[in-house]
Amino acid sequence: SVRVRIAPSPTGNLHIGTARTAVFNWLFARHLGGKFIIRIEDTDQERSRPEYTDNILEGLKWLGLTWDEGPFYQSQRLDMYKQAVQTLLDKKLAYRCYCTTEELDDMRAKQKAAGLAPRYDNRHRHLTEQEQATFEAEGRKPVIRFKIDDDRTIVWKDLVRGSVSWKAGDLGGDMVVARAAEAGGVGQPLYNLAVVVDDMDMAITHVIRGEDHIANTAKQILLYEALGGQVPEFAHTPLILNQEGRKLSKRDGVTSISDFHKMGYIAPALANYMTLLGWTAPDATQELFTLEEAAKTFSFDRVNPAGAKFDWDKLNWINSQYLHHLPVNELTDLILPLWKAAGYDVDSQERPWLEQLVALIGPSLTRLPEAVELGQMFFTQEIDFSEEAREQLQKEGVKEILESLLATVEGATLTEDTLKDAIKAVTKEKKVKKGLVMRSVRAALTGEVHGPDLIQSWLLWNQNGQDGDRLKQAL
Ligand code: GLU
Repeated sequence: SVRVRIAPSPTGNLHIGTARTAVFNWLFARHLGGKFIIRIEDTDQERSRPEYTDNILEGLKWLGLTWDEGPFYQSQRLDMYKQAVQTLLDKKLAYRCYCTTEELDDMRAKQKAAGLAPRYDNRHRHLTEQEQATFEAEGRKPVIRFKIDDDRTIVWKDLVRGSVSWKAGDLGGDMVVARAAEAGGVGQPLYNLAVVVDDMDMAITHVIRGEDHIANTAKQILLYEALGGQVPEFAHTPLILNQEGRKLSKRDGVTSISDFHKMGYIAPALANYMTLLGWTAPDATQELFTLEEAAKTFSFDRVNPAGAKFDWDKLNWINSQYLHHLPVNELTDLILPLWKAAGYDVDSQERPWLEQLVALIGPSLTRLPEAVELGQMFFTQEIDFSEEAREQLQKEGVKEILESLLATVEGATLTEDTLKDAIKAVTKEKKVKKGLVMRSVRAALTGEVHGPDLIQSWLLWNQNGQDGDRLKQAL
């Protein structure tokens, strides 16, 4: 049965590219009833940090990408990797290389001068025992290199890109699989080796990862063969590109899932958007779906190998769709912390009033933090009159209209109907158009000439006993 994994390195917060790859892994596993596994690739002790691991795991959970096994930590599995390196040495598929940094630099400089691509020239592949002993006596610490047969062409059928072939000669010469160690020892195992050992041990059937790993795939296939493992299938997902068509990077600002969260994108919307970064539903016009829905039809046939451009407008549209369809109590729960943080006196309001307010402004939201500005006038007594509102209030007859309305509403508990009737009555009494009355009331109550539904806003202030005071401010 299908087993896939996401294998993030905890050297930064959960990146949108990693998260999107996780989405594809998850969809593929769910579609085929397989298992989704998480493995933290934390062998780089200098760059790995526990807080990044936390951020990655929290981000995946927040998105709804639940895993079936793990998290496994590479840092706890070093012995296995070292054993595999030893196996390669025993089979004479790997050897100790004693080259110093200076020798390697010198080698590359000469290659460069000759117009050649830099590569290790395999010079220590056939050292005699005598030569080894001499280097060791000099105190040199060897790395372990895996032999690469330059004449081979590595071919695989990529689920996204079709047939891919890679010349082993382009892989840079015999590859280091373990860092330097004392003579006879095996040092810190390196990325490609650890990944293959893990993917074999975890019986991964499909390796789904970013296309920046294509050269690694070529190397890893050679390692599978050397270690006697079954080569899995590969799917290399397209890069996410910025507006200029270059790979989305830290320089593009927001790239981590926690940043998107802070900006007020909600998890199902972001997960939905990421699904569309490279994948198209069988009904190409369908752009809104939950992860579960997408899993029903997901396949790599519909993943475009070309880079996927990050489209903020589409993300905003999707987010607004999700916000607008969220039950009002859920939306209220998401907005209340933001209002509290903005210093609004949320606690002295009744829940039904808060939910009415959320229902009123909800349809205008694209991202959650916009609720702070939209809600502000319901939590403050002072009105900040805009220029247009002032002009509206100075128009001929407006003062009288407002006074008449004020007389009707003062002290009364109003309903939608009584408010509508009151407006109708003043329209008749003053022989003016309804539009004029509405615009004037809006200017008076809100200090603006545009905004959310006026009657509903008025009712909210009325429930607080604030509507009369607000009308008076305008007179
Ligand atoms: N640790 C690698 C990364 O974060 C994982 C690559 C893989 O999936 O094999 O890019």
